[in-house]
Amino acid sequence: VTAGSVRAGEARHAFERCWEPLAAIGRDAGGGYHRLSFTRADLAARAWFTEQAAARDLALETDRNGNQWAWWGQPGPGAVVTGSHLDSVPGGGAYDGPLGVVSAFLAVDRLRESGARPVRPIAVVNFTDEEGGRFAVACVGSRLLTGALDPSRFRDRRDADGVPAARAYASAGIDPDGIGADPEMLARIGVFVELHVEQGRSLVHSGAPVGVAAAVWPHGRWRLDLRGVGNHAGTTALADRHDPVLPMATAVLAARAAAEGAAAAGQPAVATVGRVTVDPGAMNGIAERARLWLDARAPREGTVRGIVARVERETAHAARAHGVAFDVVEESWSGRVDFGTDLRTTVAAAVAGIHGAAPILPTGAGHDAAVLAAHVPSAMLFVRNPTGVSHSPAEHADPADCVAGVTALTAVLEDLACR
Ligand SMILES: [Zn+2]
Repeated sequence: VTAGSVRAGEARHAFERCWEPLAAIGRDAGGGYHRLSFTRADLAARAWFTEQAAARDLALETDRNGNQWAWWGQPGPGAVVTGSHLDSVPGGGAYDGPLGVVSAFLAVDRLRESGARPVRPIAVVNFTDEEGGRFAVACVGSRLLTGALDPSRFRDRRDADGVPAARAYASAGIDPDGIGADPEMLARIGVFVELHVEQGRSLVHSGAPVGVAAAVWPHGRWRLDLRGVGNHAGTTALADRHDPVLPMATAVLAARAAAEGAAAAGQPAVATVGRVTVDPGAMNGIAERARLWLDARAPREGTVRGIVARVERETAHAARAHGVAFDVVEESWSGRVDFGTDLRTTVAAAVAGIHGAAPILPTGAGHDAAVLAAHVPSAMLFVRNPTGVSHSPAEHADPADCVAGVTALTAVLEDLACR
């Protein structure tokens, strides 16, 4: 056994020690995670964060928006911040979010063990409600912090059980009247580096364990409302129907066709209908109302807008043909975010020093780092995901790649905070 392999074994054990207690939280029998923000499971994950900070003598701070910070050194301006989020989508995977927080704590450990002396404070962060699984707004913690999300509108949003966000925050001990832009906290962030499991297979194709983000694609979500006339499934003649499910089906297929059309024209794009509701939902009745949510993403804003326009056009045409009222609401929009090239170059060079040239990847997924990038230099590291699957129990990263991610992040932090 060589010294190198012993160190690799130690690194893997250190990863497992930090990872395993967290991986047990909010996991269902099928391996899916349910850590919607400020639910019991999310609170348990937050308690894990508190314990990890305490075990390392890092000063814990919960900001006005519920984001958790663990400080190595005096909290203050110019901090090198790293971390991610601990909440999940319903039925999500183990790695999306937690991998970045665990890797951040372990990178701090590695730096300390190496005797590094940061000349800038380092903070590990857990951003609240990144997935938006509970109140249907993504990146809540970072968007409130930066002022990108209006707190008065967010406070009134309700979860699936009708609980307003304000009450959920209050029950977790966060004053809902205090949420919103926090320029003091924002001013402390000198740079933000988020490590994240890759949600695709680019690193598999390039044969590298760790990559660096180039940009986050513009993306948005649209709600399509179709209102027809509820009636009897057995006695209503076809000619007399106003069935909203028919134009809904047109919308679903148009989304796919529009994304394929963009891709065929050389613009990679994706469009997804992941949620539909049909009311009243009788099995022997024509529905009165159908709703669907369209998610569309592409490298260029014009491509996304073109896809949505085509879906709207074809759905409107089908709705007219069936005598159904049709309406579209844009529920969210995020423009393209290019991570700054200066920080990206620094980060890529630090990674390359460890693992060889790091692929530079675009991504179709939104992240807190993309929200922060509008205010402070931000960068992302991606860790290889063999299947590319995410937001599912099948999401995975090999232990050796997780350790490679920690090693890369350690080099990045050393570069940014210690010289
Ligand atoms: Zn994530």
